[in-house]
Amino acid sequence: MESEKIIELKNLKKQYGDNIVLKNINLHVDRGEVVSIIGPSGSGKSTILRCIVDLESITSGEVLIEGNNLTDKNVDKKIKKEMLLKTGMVFQTFNLFPHMSVRNNIVKTLKLVKKMDMTEAENITKKMLDLVGLSDKIDSFPNELSGGQKQRVAIARALALQPDIMLFDEPTSALDPELVKEVLDIIRKLKNQKITMLIVSHEMNFVREISDRIIVMEKGEILETGSSQQIFENPFSQRVREFLNTNS
Ligand code: ADP
Ligand code: MG
Repeated sequence: MESEKIIELKNLKKQYGDNIVLKNINLHVDRGEVVSIIGPSGSGKSTILRCIVDLESITSGEVLIEGNNLTDKNVDKKIKKEMLLKTGMVFQTFNLFPHMSVRNNIVKTLKLVKKMDMTEAENITKKMLDLVGLSDKIDSFPNELSGGQKQRVAIARALALQPDIMLFDEPTSALDPELVKEVLDIIRKLKNQKITMLIVSHEMNFVREISDRIIVMEKGEILETGSSQQIFENPFSQRVREFLNTNS
């Protein structure tokens, strides 16, 4: 069976003024795959994720979700919206609504984005909080939670929208070290459930363990892409070797 590309970037270029931050990015994520992007700070990893979910406009090239070219000027607005809903994004800094309970963070998102009725929204909210092990926090407010718990709520909220792919931008880098594991364990659980993921992370042991494929970036370019074993045990380029030596 031919693999289905959930996300595909073709010759993606992104420029801020004169600063070219993505040069010519070609990548894809197939259904069921876990792909990680690693590389030094400033290499363009977050920009790639932000271009995929339309938080940034692109300079040139194409962003396709499930085969639909979202960067085509003539793209049907309805299809674009539908495709963007298939991507769930989790940020470094959680982005929960601070004035809403955990329950309402998820319920109100479902009602607003999916126009869901209250009963269904409540049911899904309970199911997702159970998945991330936070059923007992349903009536808490974000400021009553630890960083790890906040991030788990953010993951539950993204999952509640039933995306076809989850994008993670350094989901543990704002956390105290002792809270990192509880978030990584949730991502491991998602892999077991065959959820497609594109992950940016500096947790090298985790990246090595969880990724079907790894993309190494530097200065807006892909240096190398390969299996976890290939990248960590036998990288082609000296630059990748150096990066891994200083970061693992
Ligand atoms: P990474 O996530 O790999 O650390 P980023 O994608 O955040 O890298 O940033 C890539 C480059 O783009 C950096 O040089 C950064 O300074 C620049 N950049 C990111 N966002 C903006 C912005 N809104 N305006 C101007 N430059 C930006
Ligand atoms: Mg970043």
